[in-house]
Amino acid sequence: MSDKSKNTHCILPYMHLYAEPTGLVKPCCIGGEFEDKLSLRDLSVEEAINSPQMKQLRKDMSEGVRNSVCMVCYEREDRGETSPRQNFNNNTLWKMPKVGKDFSVPKDALQHIDIRFSNLCNFKCRMCNHTFSSEWYKEVPLVENPHDDEIRTKEYYDYWKQNNPKKVIKAKEGIVEELKPFLPSVKSWYFAGGEPLITPEHSELLNYLHETKPTIDIWGRQKKDVSIHYNTNLSILKFNKYNFLDIWFDFNKVFLSISCDGVGDVGEYQRTGFKTDVFLKNLKEIQKYFKPADSETQEVGYGYNFQYTTTIYNVFHIWDFYKFMLDEGHIEHERNIDFYYAWAPRRSALKYLPDHDKPRVIEYLTDLLTKFKEPTTINKIESMIAFTKEQPDEHFMRYERDQIIKENTRLDELRGGKQMKDINGMDWMKTYKAPIGSPIWKKQQELKGLKNFGKKDDDGNPIYKAPVGSSKWKDDKGQKNLF
Ligand code: SF4
Repeated sequence: MSDKSKNTHCILPYMHLYAEPTGLVKPCCIGGEFEDKLSLRDLSVEEAINSPQMKQLRKDMSEGVRNSVCMVCYEREDRGETSPRQNFNNNTLWKMPKVGKDFSVPKDALQHIDIRFSNLCNFKCRMCNHTFSSEWYKEVPLVENPHDDEIRTKEYYDYWKQNNPKKVIKAKEGIVEELKPFLPSVKSWYFAGGEPLITPEHSELLNYLHETKPTIDIWGRQKKDVSIHYNTNLSILKFNKYNFLDIWFDFNKVFLSISCDGVGDVGEYQRTGFKTDVFLKNLKEIQKYFKPADSETQEVGYGYNFQYTTTIYNVFHIWDFYKFMLDEGHIEHERNIDFYYAWAPRRSALKYLPDHDKPRVIEYLTDLLTKFKEPTTINKIESMIAFTKEQPDEHFMRYERDQIIKENTRLDELRGGKQMKDINGMDWMKTYKAPIGSPIWKKQQELKGLKNFGKKDDDGNPIYKAPVGSSKWKDDKGQKNLF
Protein backbone atom coordinates (compact mmCIF):
# COMPACT_ATOMS: atom_id res chain seq x y z
CA MET A 1 0.00 0.00 0.00
CA SER A 2 1.41 3.38 -0.96
CA ASP A 3 1.75 6.29 1.45
CA LYS A 4 -0.87 8.10 -0.59
CA SER A 5 -3.47 5.41 -0.03
CA LYS A 6 -2.76 4.42 3.56
CA ASN A 7 -5.55 6.59 4.96
CA THR A 8 -8.10 5.66 2.32
CA HIS A 9 -7.38 2.05 1.33
CA CYS A 10 -9.83 -0.65 2.33
CA ILE A 11 -9.52 -4.27 1.26
CA LEU A 12 -13.27 -4.85 0.98
CA PRO A 13 -14.00 -3.30 -2.44
CA TYR A 14 -11.31 -5.57 -3.92
CA MET A 15 -12.55 -8.92 -2.63
CA HIS A 16 -16.04 -8.54 -1.23
CA LEU A 17 -19.61 -8.33 -2.49
CA TYR A 18 -22.42 -6.83 -0.47
CA ALA A 19 -26.05 -6.58 -1.55
CA GLU A 20 -29.28 -5.78 0.26
CA PRO A 21 -32.58 -7.66 -0.04
CA THR A 22 -33.61 -5.01 -2.59
CA GLY A 23 -30.67 -6.03 -4.77
CA LEU A 24 -28.85 -2.77 -4.01
CA VAL A 25 -25.06 -3.19 -4.13
CA LYS A 26 -22.85 -1.09 -1.86
CA PRO A 27 -19.15 -1.37 -1.03
CA CYS A 28 -20.07 -3.03 2.28
CA CYS A 29 -22.95 -3.15 4.74
CA ILE A 30 -22.12 0.20 6.34
CA GLY A 31 -21.02 2.00 3.17
CA GLY A 32 -23.17 4.52 1.35
CA GLU A 33 -25.06 4.07 -1.91
CA PHE A 34 -23.30 4.90 -5.16
CA GLU A 35 -24.73 8.00 -6.78
CA ASP A 36 -25.40 5.94 -9.85
CA LYS A 37 -27.04 3.01 -8.08
CA LEU A 38 -25.92 -0.56 -8.58
CA SER A 39 -28.35 -3.43 -8.34
CA LEU A 40 -27.98 -7.18 -8.62
CA ARG A 41 -31.40 -7.18 -10.24
CA ASP A 42 -29.91 -5.39 -13.27
CA LEU A 43 -26.40 -6.81 -13.24
CA SER A 44 -24.72 -10.18 -12.97
CA VAL A 45 -22.43 -10.78 -10.00
CA GLU A 46 -19.41 -10.38 -12.28
CA GLU A 47 -20.72 -7.10 -13.75
CA ALA A 48 -21.38 -5.72 -10.26
CA ILE A 49 -17.86 -6.54 -9.03
CA ASN A 50 -16.27 -4.80 -12.00
CA SER A 51 -18.83 -2.05 -12.47
CA PRO A 52 -17.53 1.47 -13.27
CA GLN A 53 -18.59 2.53 -9.74
CA MET A 54 -16.53 -0.18 -8.02
CA LYS A 55 -13.53 0.50 -10.27
CA GLN A 56 -13.73 4.21 -9.51
CA LEU A 57 -13.88 3.46 -5.77
CA ARG A 58 -10.71 1.34 -6.02
CA LYS A 59 -9.02 4.06 -8.04
CA ASP A 60 -9.96 6.71 -5.46
CA MET A 61 -8.70 4.55 -2.62
CA SER A 62 -5.38 3.93 -4.32
CA GLU A 63 -4.92 7.69 -4.96
CA GLY A 64 -5.77 8.77 -1.43
CA VAL A 65 -9.13 10.24 -2.43
CA ARG A 66 -12.04 9.90 0.01
CA ASN A 67 -14.91 8.49 -2.04
CA SER A 68 -18.23 9.61 -0.54
CA VAL A 69 -19.58 6.04 -0.19
CA CYS A 70 -16.94 5.35 2.46
CA MET A 71 -17.33 8.56 4.47
CA VAL A 72 -18.81 6.59 7.36
CA CYS A 73 -15.33 5.12 8.01
CA TYR A 74 -13.33 8.27 7.31
CA GLU A 75 -15.55 10.33 9.61
CA ARG A 76 -15.16 7.82 12.42
CA GLU A 77 -11.40 8.07 12.05
CA ASP A 78 -11.65 11.88 12.10
CA ARG A 79 -13.46 11.56 15.45
CA GLY A 80 -10.57 9.45 16.78
CA GLU A 81 -12.56 6.18 16.63
CA THR A 82 -11.33 2.94 15.13
CA SER A 83 -13.15 2.41 11.84
CA PRO A 84 -14.35 -0.84 10.26
CA ARG A 85 -11.94 -0.06 7.40
CA GLN A 86 -9.00 -0.33 9.80
CA ASN A 87 -10.36 -3.55 11.32
CA PHE A 88 -10.99 -5.15 7.93
CA ASN A 89 -7.51 -4.22 6.72
CA ASN A 90 -6.07 -6.14 9.70
CA ASN A 91 -7.91 -9.36 8.80
CA THR A 92 -5.24 -11.86 7.74
CA LEU A 93 -7.73 -14.30 6.21
CA TRP A 94 -8.12 -12.23 3.04
CA LYS A 95 -5.44 -11.42 0.48
CA MET A 96 -5.29 -8.48 -1.89
CA PRO A 97 -6.03 -9.80 -5.40
CA LYS A 98 -4.23 -8.80 -8.56
CA VAL A 99 -5.70 -5.49 -9.70
CA GLY A 100 -5.86 -4.57 -13.39
CA LYS A 101 -4.70 -1.24 -14.83
CA ASP A 102 -8.37 -0.28 -15.17
CA PHE A 103 -8.91 -1.28 -11.49
CA SER A 104 -10.85 -4.42 -12.38
CA VAL A 105 -10.31 -7.59 -10.35
CA PRO A 106 -10.42 -11.24 -11.52
CA LYS A 107 -13.34 -13.54 -10.84
CA ASP A 108 -11.44 -15.43 -8.14
CA ALA A 109 -10.81 -12.18 -6.23
CA LEU A 110 -14.07 -12.77 -4.39
CA GLN A 111 -13.21 -14.02 -0.90
CA HIS A 112 -15.91 -12.61 1.35
CA ILE A 113 -19.63 -12.40 0.57
CA ASP A 114 -22.45 -10.68 2.40
CA ILE A 115 -25.61 -10.87 0.33
CA ARG A 116 -28.85 -10.38 2.20
CA PHE A 117 -30.86 -12.86 0.19
CA SER A 118 -34.21 -11.68 1.40
CA ASN A 119 -36.00 -9.51 3.94
CA LEU A 120 -37.82 -12.56 5.31
CA CYS A 121 -37.92 -12.17 9.06
CA ASN A 122 -39.99 -13.36 11.99
CA PHE A 123 -39.41 -10.19 14.05
CA LYS A 124 -40.35 -6.56 13.45
CA CYS A 125 -37.87 -4.65 15.58
CA ARG A 126 -38.80 -1.03 16.19
CA MET A 127 -35.51 0.25 14.75
CA CYS A 128 -35.90 -1.81 11.56
CA ASN A 129 -37.87 -1.33 8.34
CA HIS A 130 -39.43 -3.26 5.49
CA THR A 131 -36.16 -3.55 3.55
CA PHE A 132 -34.82 -5.82 6.28
CA SER A 133 -38.00 -7.28 7.77
CA SER A 134 -40.99 -8.64 5.89
CA GLU A 135 -42.98 -8.34 9.12
CA TRP A 136 -42.90 -4.55 8.81
CA TYR A 137 -44.92 -4.69 5.59
CA LYS A 138 -48.36 -3.91 6.99
CA GLU A 139 -47.18 -1.24 9.38
CA VAL A 140 -44.82 0.95 7.35
CA PRO A 141 -47.56 2.91 5.54
CA LEU A 142 -49.50 3.35 8.77
CA VAL A 143 -46.57 4.32 10.97
CA GLU A 144 -44.53 6.39 8.53
CA ASN A 145 -47.39 8.13 6.77
CA PRO A 146 -46.90 11.89 6.95
CA HIS A 147 -50.61 12.70 7.14
CA ASP A 148 -52.95 12.98 10.06
CA ASP A 149 -56.36 12.57 8.64
CA GLU A 150 -57.88 9.26 7.84
CA ILE A 151 -58.64 9.89 4.15
CA ARG A 152 -55.06 10.73 3.35
CA THR A 153 -53.87 7.86 5.55
CA LYS A 154 -55.84 5.49 3.34
CA GLU A 155 -54.49 7.22 0.22
CA TYR A 156 -50.95 6.97 1.50
CA TYR A 157 -51.47 3.31 2.36
CA ASP A 158 -52.62 2.56 -1.22
CA TYR A 159 -49.78 4.61 -2.70
CA TRP A 160 -47.19 2.80 -0.57
CA LYS A 161 -48.61 -0.62 -1.44
CA GLN A 162 -48.51 0.22 -5.14
CA ASN A 163 -44.81 1.06 -4.88
CA ASN A 164 -44.06 -1.89 -2.62
CA PRO A 165 -46.20 -4.72 -3.97
CA LYS A 166 -44.37 -7.54 -2.20
CA LYS A 167 -44.15 -8.38 1.48
CA VAL A 168 -41.14 -10.64 0.95
CA ILE A 169 -38.48 -9.15 -1.30
CA LYS A 170 -35.46 -10.93 -2.71
CA ALA A 171 -32.09 -9.61 -3.83
CA LYS A 172 -32.36 -11.68 -6.98
CA GLU A 173 -34.14 -14.82 -8.12
CA GLY A 174 -31.69 -17.68 -8.70
CA ILE A 175 -28.86 -15.94 -6.84
CA VAL A 176 -27.54 -19.15 -5.24
CA GLU A 177 -27.04 -20.77 -8.66
CA GLU A 178 -25.33 -17.63 -9.97
CA LEU A 179 -22.93 -17.57 -7.03
CA LYS A 180 -21.81 -21.20 -7.30
CA PRO A 181 -18.96 -20.59 -9.83
CA PHE A 182 -17.47 -17.99 -7.45
CA LEU A 183 -17.49 -20.18 -4.36
CA PRO A 184 -14.09 -21.96 -4.70
CA SER A 185 -12.26 -18.72 -3.83
CA VAL A 186 -14.65 -17.70 -1.04
CA LYS A 187 -13.05 -17.92 2.40
CA SER A 188 -15.72 -16.32 4.52
CA TRP A 189 -19.41 -15.62 4.44
CA TYR A 190 -21.56 -13.25 6.40
CA PHE A 191 -25.20 -14.28 6.65
CA ALA A 192 -27.71 -11.70 7.76
CA GLY A 193 -31.14 -10.76 6.60
CA GLY A 194 -33.97 -10.59 7.42
CA GLU A 195 -33.38 -13.54 9.69
CA PRO A 196 -30.98 -15.77 7.78
CA LEU A 197 -31.91 -18.95 9.61
CA ILE A 198 -35.47 -18.90 8.21
CA THR A 199 -34.35 -17.98 4.68
CA PRO A 200 -34.44 -20.87 2.15
CA GLU A 201 -31.53 -19.41 0.14
CA HIS A 202 -29.34 -19.53 3.24
CA SER A 203 -30.07 -23.24 3.82
CA GLU A 204 -29.46 -24.02 0.16
CA LEU A 205 -26.15 -22.16 0.13
CA LEU A 206 -24.97 -23.56 3.47
CA ASN A 207 -25.78 -27.05 2.29
CA TYR A 208 -23.87 -26.45 -0.96
CA LEU A 209 -20.81 -25.18 0.93
CA HIS A 210 -21.09 -28.20 3.22
CA GLU A 211 -21.14 -30.58 0.27
CA THR A 212 -18.49 -28.94 -1.92
CA LYS A 213 -15.89 -27.16 0.20
CA PRO A 214 -12.70 -29.14 0.79
CA THR A 215 -11.80 -30.02 4.36
CA ILE A 216 -8.69 -29.21 6.36
CA ASP A 217 -7.30 -30.85 9.44
CA ILE A 218 -8.13 -28.94 12.62
CA TRP A 219 -6.70 -30.64 15.67
CA GLY A 220 -7.29 -34.11 14.24
CA ARG A 221 -10.75 -33.37 12.83
CA GLN A 222 -11.62 -32.71 9.19
CA LYS A 223 -13.43 -29.38 8.91
CA LYS A 224 -14.82 -27.47 5.92
CA ASP A 225 -12.38 -24.70 5.06
CA VAL A 226 -14.65 -21.69 5.23
CA SER A 227 -15.44 -19.28 7.99
CA ILE A 228 -19.08 -18.36 8.55
CA HIS A 229 -20.38 -15.39 10.45
CA TYR A 230 -24.06 -14.89 11.27
CA ASN A 231 -26.17 -12.10 12.44
CA THR A 232 -29.14 -13.90 13.93
CA ASN A 233 -31.92 -13.30 16.41
CA LEU A 234 -31.47 -16.92 17.61
CA SER A 235 -35.19 -17.61 17.48
CA ILE A 236 -34.72 -20.95 15.70
CA LEU A 237 -31.96 -23.54 15.29
CA LYS A 238 -33.67 -25.91 12.85
CA PHE A 239 -35.25 -25.14 9.49
CA ASN A 240 -37.00 -27.73 7.31
CA LYS A 241 -34.68 -30.75 7.17
CA TYR A 242 -31.67 -28.78 8.43
CA ASN A 243 -30.37 -28.93 11.98
CA PHE A 244 -27.93 -26.01 11.91
CA LEU A 245 -25.95 -27.08 14.96
CA ASP A 246 -25.04 -30.37 13.26
CA ILE A 247 -24.04 -28.64 10.02
CA TRP A 248 -22.07 -25.84 11.69
CA PHE A 249 -19.99 -28.36 13.58
CA ASP A 250 -18.48 -29.51 10.25
CA PHE A 251 -17.08 -26.02 9.47
CA ASN A 252 -13.78 -24.79 10.83
CA LYS A 253 -15.13 -21.52 12.18
CA VAL A 254 -18.63 -20.30 12.93
CA PHE A 255 -19.35 -17.09 14.74
CA LEU A 256 -22.82 -16.03 15.84
CA SER A 257 -23.38 -12.34 16.38
CA ILE A 258 -26.62 -12.61 18.29
CA SER A 259 -28.85 -9.58 17.97
CA CYS A 260 -30.25 -9.09 21.41
CA ASP A 261 -30.71 -5.76 23.06
CA GLY A 262 -32.74 -6.54 26.09
CA VAL A 263 -34.29 -9.38 27.99
CA GLY A 264 -37.79 -9.38 29.47
CA ASP A 265 -40.07 -6.41 28.80
CA VAL A 266 -37.42 -4.17 27.22
CA GLY A 267 -36.18 -6.79 24.76
CA GLU A 268 -39.71 -7.84 23.87
CA TYR A 269 -40.74 -4.22 23.34
CA GLN A 270 -37.81 -3.25 21.13
CA ARG A 271 -37.74 -6.47 19.10
CA THR A 272 -41.39 -7.32 18.56
CA GLY A 273 -41.42 -11.10 18.10
CA PHE A 274 -38.61 -11.72 20.58
CA LYS A 275 -39.54 -14.12 23.37
CA THR A 276 -37.20 -14.24 26.31
CA ASP A 277 -37.92 -17.90 27.18
CA VAL A 278 -37.35 -19.14 23.58
CA PHE A 279 -34.18 -17.09 23.37
CA LEU A 280 -32.74 -18.46 26.62
CA LYS A 281 -33.63 -22.04 25.59
CA ASN A 282 -31.80 -21.67 22.26
CA LEU A 283 -28.87 -19.97 23.95
CA LYS A 284 -28.48 -22.96 26.25
CA GLU A 285 -28.61 -25.25 23.22
CA ILE A 286 -25.81 -23.49 21.32
CA GLN A 287 -23.69 -23.32 24.47
CA LYS A 288 -23.11 -27.09 24.05
CA TYR A 289 -20.74 -26.15 21.20
CA PHE A 290 -20.24 -22.39 21.23
CA LYS A 291 -18.36 -20.23 23.68
CA PRO A 292 -18.71 -16.50 24.33
CA ALA A 293 -16.03 -14.73 22.30
CA ASP A 294 -14.73 -11.40 21.19
CA SER A 295 -16.07 -10.43 17.76
CA GLU A 296 -12.87 -8.64 16.78
CA THR A 297 -10.48 -11.49 17.48
CA GLN A 298 -12.93 -14.39 17.13
CA GLU A 299 -10.37 -16.49 18.89
CA VAL A 300 -12.40 -19.72 19.08
CA GLY A 301 -13.75 -22.05 16.39
CA TYR A 302 -17.36 -21.78 17.58
CA GLY A 303 -18.01 -18.47 19.19
CA TYR A 304 -20.84 -16.10 19.87
CA ASN A 305 -21.32 -12.62 21.17
CA PHE A 306 -24.22 -10.25 21.59
CA GLN A 307 -24.93 -7.20 19.51
CA TYR A 308 -26.78 -4.63 21.55
CA THR A 309 -28.33 -1.94 19.38
CA THR A 310 -28.89 1.04 21.62
CA THR A 311 -31.98 3.08 20.89
CA ILE A 312 -34.15 5.51 22.77
CA TYR A 313 -36.16 2.49 23.96
CA ASN A 314 -33.46 0.38 25.58
CA VAL A 315 -30.78 2.92 26.47
CA PHE A 316 -31.52 2.69 30.21
CA HIS A 317 -31.25 -1.12 30.07
CA ILE A 318 -27.57 -1.35 29.07
CA TRP A 319 -26.18 -2.08 32.52
CA ASP A 320 -29.02 -4.46 33.53
CA PHE A 321 -28.47 -6.40 30.31
CA TYR A 322 -24.73 -6.66 30.86
CA LYS A 323 -25.19 -7.76 34.49
CA PHE A 324 -27.83 -10.32 33.51
CA MET A 325 -25.60 -11.87 30.84
CA LEU A 326 -22.58 -11.92 33.16
CA ASP A 327 -24.38 -13.21 36.25
CA GLU A 328 -26.12 -15.96 34.26
CA GLY A 329 -22.79 -17.06 32.76
CA HIS A 330 -23.73 -16.19 29.16
CA ILE A 331 -20.69 -13.93 28.78
CA GLU A 332 -17.26 -13.89 30.35
CA HIS A 333 -16.43 -10.22 30.03
CA GLU A 334 -17.56 -6.91 28.56
CA ARG A 335 -15.94 -7.64 25.20
CA ASN A 336 -18.55 -10.33 24.59
CA ILE A 337 -21.10 -7.60 23.94
CA ASP A 338 -20.78 -5.17 21.04
CA PHE A 339 -22.63 -2.02 21.96
CA TYR A 340 -23.86 -0.15 18.92
CA TYR A 341 -26.34 2.63 18.49
CA ALA A 342 -29.06 3.02 15.89
CA TRP A 343 -28.68 6.12 13.72
CA ALA A 344 -31.81 5.30 11.76
CA PRO A 345 -34.75 5.30 11.69
CA ARG A 346 -34.78 8.66 13.38
CA ARG A 347 -37.69 7.76 15.65
CA SER A 348 -35.43 5.29 17.45
CA ALA A 349 -32.13 7.22 17.44
CA LEU A 350 -30.73 9.01 20.51
CA LYS A 351 -29.70 12.08 18.52
CA TYR A 352 -33.31 12.90 17.68
CA LEU A 353 -34.68 12.83 21.21
CA PRO A 354 -36.47 15.99 22.29
CA ASP A 355 -34.10 18.29 24.20
CA HIS A 356 -35.82 17.71 27.54
CA ASP A 357 -35.13 13.94 27.39
CA LYS A 358 -31.46 14.18 26.47
CA PRO A 359 -29.94 15.18 29.86
CA ARG A 360 -31.28 12.06 31.60
CA VAL A 361 -29.85 9.85 28.85
CA ILE A 362 -26.48 11.60 28.90
CA GLU A 363 -26.31 11.34 32.70
CA TYR A 364 -27.05 7.60 32.54
CA LEU A 365 -24.45 6.97 29.81
CA THR A 366 -21.84 9.10 31.58
CA ASP A 367 -22.36 7.04 34.74
CA LEU A 368 -21.69 3.88 32.69
CA LEU A 369 -18.21 5.21 31.90
CA THR A 370 -17.34 4.72 35.60
CA LYS A 371 -18.73 1.17 35.62
CA PHE A 372 -17.36 -0.43 32.45
CA LYS A 373 -13.63 -1.13 32.34
CA GLU A 374 -12.79 -2.30 28.81
CA PRO A 375 -11.42 0.45 26.52
CA THR A 376 -13.52 -0.83 23.57
CA THR A 377 -16.72 -0.67 25.61
CA ILE A 378 -15.86 2.75 26.98
CA ASN A 379 -15.08 3.94 23.45
CA LYS A 380 -18.51 2.74 22.29
CA ILE A 381 -20.32 4.45 25.19
CA GLU A 382 -18.40 7.67 24.54
CA SER A 383 -19.50 7.53 20.90
CA MET A 384 -23.10 7.08 22.06
CA ILE A 385 -22.81 10.14 24.29
CA ALA A 386 -21.35 12.21 21.46
CA PHE A 387 -24.13 11.03 19.14
CA THR A 388 -26.82 11.89 21.71
CA LYS A 389 -25.36 15.38 22.11
CA GLU A 390 -25.37 16.07 18.38
CA GLN A 391 -28.00 18.56 17.28
CA PRO A 392 -30.25 17.46 14.43
CA ASP A 393 -30.17 19.73 11.40
CA GLU A 394 -32.45 22.69 10.89
CA HIS A 395 -34.68 20.81 8.44
CA PHE A 396 -35.35 18.09 10.99
CA MET A 397 -36.12 20.58 13.76
CA ARG A 398 -38.57 22.43 11.56
CA TYR A 399 -40.30 19.72 9.62
CA GLU A 400 -39.58 16.25 10.98
CA ARG A 401 -39.50 16.42 14.77
CA ASP A 402 -43.24 16.03 15.14
CA GLN A 403 -43.17 13.12 12.71
CA ILE A 404 -40.94 10.93 14.88
CA ILE A 405 -43.14 11.57 17.89
CA LYS A 406 -46.16 10.57 15.85
CA GLU A 407 -44.41 7.46 14.55
CA ASN A 408 -43.61 6.18 18.03
CA THR A 409 -47.13 6.90 19.21
CA ARG A 410 -48.65 5.11 16.23
CA LEU A 411 -46.39 2.11 16.81
CA ASP A 412 -47.53 1.84 20.41
CA GLU A 413 -51.15 2.06 19.32
CA LEU A 414 -50.79 -0.54 16.57
CA ARG A 415 -48.79 -3.07 18.55
CA GLY A 416 -50.60 -2.72 21.87
CA GLY A 417 -49.13 -4.08 25.10
CA LYS A 418 -46.43 -2.05 26.84
CA GLN A 419 -46.02 1.54 25.76
CA MET A 420 -42.83 3.52 25.38
CA LYS A 421 -43.41 5.36 28.65
CA ASP A 422 -43.61 2.00 30.51
CA ILE A 423 -40.24 0.98 29.07
CA ASN A 424 -38.11 4.13 29.21
CA GLY A 425 -40.21 6.65 31.14
CA MET A 426 -40.58 8.96 28.14
CA ASP A 427 -44.17 10.12 27.81
CA TRP A 428 -44.09 12.53 24.90
CA MET A 429 -47.81 13.01 24.85
CA LYS A 430 -47.39 14.65 28.25
CA THR A 431 -43.96 16.23 28.09
CA TYR A 432 -43.41 17.39 24.53
CA LYS A 433 -44.27 21.05 24.05
CA ALA A 434 -45.91 20.74 20.67
CA PRO A 435 -46.46 23.96 18.71
CA ILE A 436 -50.02 25.16 19.37
CA GLY A 437 -52.34 24.02 16.63
CA SER A 438 -49.91 21.35 15.32
CA PRO A 439 -51.20 17.80 14.85
CA ILE A 440 -49.34 16.61 17.97
CA TRP A 441 -50.84 19.45 20.00
CA LYS A 442 -54.28 18.46 18.75
CA LYS A 443 -53.58 14.89 19.73
CA GLN A 444 -52.46 15.97 23.18
CA GLN A 445 -55.73 17.88 23.57
CA GLU A 446 -57.58 14.83 22.34
CA LEU A 447 -55.84 12.63 24.89
CA LYS A 448 -56.67 15.07 27.64
CA GLY A 449 -60.26 14.38 26.66
CA LEU A 450 -59.87 10.69 27.47
CA LYS A 451 -62.10 11.19 30.48
CA ASN A 452 -64.84 11.83 27.91
CA PHE A 453 -64.28 8.46 26.26
CA GLY A 454 -67.68 7.05 25.25
CA LYS A 455 -69.53 10.34 25.95
CA LYS A 456 -71.27 12.42 23.30
CA ASP A 457 -71.55 16.16 22.77
CA ASP A 458 -74.82 18.07 22.56
CA ASP A 459 -75.21 17.10 18.88
CA GLY A 460 -74.78 13.42 19.65
CA ASN A 461 -71.24 13.16 18.23
CA PRO A 462 -68.59 11.25 20.21
CA ILE A 463 -66.26 13.66 22.09
CA TYR A 464 -63.31 11.26 21.98
CA LYS A 465 -61.94 10.36 18.57
CA ALA A 466 -59.74 7.28 18.28
CA PRO A 467 -56.22 7.99 17.01
CA VAL A 468 -55.78 7.42 13.27
CA GLY A 469 -54.58 3.88 12.55
CA SER A 470 -55.54 2.47 15.99
CA SER A 471 -57.76 -0.60 16.17
CA LYS A 472 -60.63 1.48 17.55
CA TRP A 473 -60.22 3.89 14.62
CA LYS A 474 -60.49 0.98 12.22
CA ASP A 475 -63.56 -0.35 14.08
CA ASP A 476 -65.17 3.09 13.95
CA LYS A 477 -64.59 3.27 10.23
CA GLY A 478 -65.73 -0.29 9.66
CA GLN A 479 -62.26 -0.92 8.20
CA LYS A 480 -61.14 -3.59 10.60
CA ASN A 481 -60.23 -5.96 7.78
CA LEU A 482 -58.78 -3.33 5.50
CA PHE A 483 -55.16 -3.90 6.48
S1 SF4 B 1 -13.90 1.98 3.85
FE1 SF4 B 1 -15.54 1.52 5.32
S2 SF4 B 1 -17.42 1.92 4.19
FE2 SF4 B 1 -15.78 1.73 2.67
S3 SF4 B 1 -15.82 -0.41 2.06
FE3 SF4 B 1 -14.32 -0.22 3.70
S4 SF4 B 1 -15.46 -0.71 5.57
FE4 SF4 B 1 -16.96 -0.26 3.97
